[in-house]
Amino acid sequence: MATQVTAAAPDTLQQYQIPFFRPTIGQEEIDSVVETLKSGWLTTGPKVRKFEQAFAQSVGAEFAIAVSSCTAALHLALEAVGVGPGDEVLVPSLTFASTGETVMHLGGRPVLIDSCPDTLCIDPDQLERKITKRTKAVLPVHYGGHPCDMDEIQAIARKHGIAVIEDAAHAIPAHYRDRPVGAISDLTCFSFYANKTITTGEGGMVTTNDRELADRVRLMSLHGISKDAWKRFSAEGSWYYEILAPGYKYNMTDLAAAIGLHQLEKSGRFHQQRSAIAESYDAAFADLPEIKVPAVREEVVSAWHLYVIQVDVERLSISRNDFIKALNAAGIGTSVHYLPLHMHPLYRDRFGYAPEDLPVAQSAFDRIISLPIYPTMTDAEIEHVTSTVRSIVEGNRIG
Ligand SMILES: *Cc1c(COP(=O)(O)O)cnc(C)c1O
Repeated sequence: MATQVTAAAPDTLQQYQIPFFRPTIGQEEIDSVVETLKSGWLTTGPKVRKFEQAFAQSVGAEFAIAVSSCTAALHLALEAVGVGPGDEVLVPSLTFASTGETVMHLGGRPVLIDSCPDTLCIDPDQLERKITKRTKAVLPVHYGGHPCDMDEIQAIARKHGIAVIEDAAHAIPAHYRDRPVGAISDLTCFSFYANKTITTGEGGMVTTNDRELADRVRLMSLHGISKDAWKRFSAEGSWYYEILAPGYKYNMTDLAAAIGLHQLEKSGRFHQQRSAIAESYDAAFADLPEIKVPAVREEVVSAWHLYVIQVDVERLSISRNDFIKALNAAGIGTSVHYLPLHMHPLYRDRFGYAPEDLPVAQSAFDRIISLPIYPTMTDAEIEHVTSTVRSIVEGNRIG
C-alpha cells in the first residue's frame, strides 16, 4: 500500500490532536493529478468520462453525470424533473443547506419534514401528510450514510405521482435491501466534497437509469449546449455547437476526476475501516445508557459517513454544548449535523417555522454530537475518543 499523505483545510486540522476529519489521499491521487496537469487536458475530458463509467458501474446505475458539487447535482436533478416556480419539494429538516436552497433556486418551496426518532432520516409517515397538488418531488437524505426507508418513500411517491431524488451526499457506498444507493430512485446525487467518504476536493455525481433524465442533466450541466456538441470536447470535436436551453456551468474537471478514480477504487477499503470504527464505538458505549448510539436498521448497510451519538441530557448535569467543550478540551474535534433547516433564520422568517413544528429534529438538535470517523484513525485515537466520552459521562451523571 502506498504511503498515506493527508491534508485538509487548516481550520479543521491541527486544531485538535484528533481532528474531526482527515481526508485519505495517497500517492496514487497525487501522481494522477500531476500526470493530468502534464497531459495538457485540465477540464472535462477523458478522465471525467472514465470516472463517470466507473462510478455508474460501482452503484449499478445506467447513467452517471459528473458535476462540480452535490449542490450542483441537486439543482440539476430538481430541474430535470421539472421543479419550477410555486412547486413544492419535500425535504427533511435535519440536513445541510444545499438540500433546501436548490429548491429555492428554481423558484420552488422546500416543505420541511421531521425525522424518524431512531435513524434521524426523513419520516415517511410525516411525508404523506404534507403532499399537496403543488408537490413535485421528495428529496430524502441518507443521514450519516444510513439509507432512508426507500420502499415506503417510493410507494408514497408512486401513489401521488411525484419524483424521488436522493441526496446521497453521505452514502458512498450504502445499500438498501441489497440494492446499492444510486440505482434505486429516479435520480441520485452524490458529493465528493473534501470531508465526504470519497473526495475529489470539490465534486458531485448524478446517477439515473432514465435516459431522458440523464440527457437533461447533462445538457443543463454545461450551458445547455446540445449533446452532439459534447464531441467538441473530444478528439472528433468541431467548432460548431448549439445552445438549446439556459444551462449552468456545473461540469467536473479532469483534475478532480483524476483524484476520484483512485478514491473510488479505494472506497471499499475505506468503508471497511469506517465500519470497524463504528463497531468499536458501539461496543465501547454499549453499557452507557446516557449515550444513544446510531440505530442501523437490518435492511441497510450504512456508509458510516458520520457517527452521531445522542447524549441523554436529562440524565447528565451538562448540556450537549458543554459535552462538546469537554471533548474539545481532550483534543477531540467534533461537529453537529445539523441545526435543523426550520430553525435557521431563512426558514423561520420566510416560511414562518417555529422550532417545535418539527419536534423530533428540534429535540435531536439538543442531543447530537458527531464523533471522528475516518480511515486514518489509529487504534489509540479511537480508544482516546471512547475513554473520553466515558469519563465525561461518568463525571456528570445525575444521582
Ligand atoms: C455535503 C452535503 C451536500 C453538498 O455537497 P457539496 O458537494 O459540498 O455541494 C448536500 N447534502 C448533504 C446532506 C451534504 O452533507
